[in-house]
Amino acid sequence: MKQVHAARHAPEAHLVKGFLESNGIAAVVRGEYLTSGWGELPVDVCSVWIEDDRQYDRAQALLLAFLRGDFAREFRGQGWRCPKCGEQLEGQFTQCWKCGTRRPA
Ligand SMILES: [Zn+2]
Repeated sequence: MKQVHAARHAPEAHLVKGFLESNGIAAVVRGEYLTSGWGELPVDVCSVWIEDDRQYDRAQALLLAFLRGDFAREFRGQGWRCPKCGEQLEGQFTQCWKCGTRRPA
């Protein structure tokens, strides 16, 4: 067993666990009962562990890409609307793909 990710809360831990399992890596969430429903407890009690240590490097590489992309979009990437043409854009775009207008600050 090796820890691959320290989550801020249980939903994040489960998201990571699901992602790893969808890539064929068996994972478990530890400490979720300590955080559920209380909110004021230490943030590092919820973590994701993989069962097979030999998959550690692969899990780390997958997670790195995951946390940079889809995951980040889901957790902090607010979508925005282009002020010029009204196109609805996803949070990772800094520019409207339709008319080229830059994202307002
Ligand atoms: Zn636009």
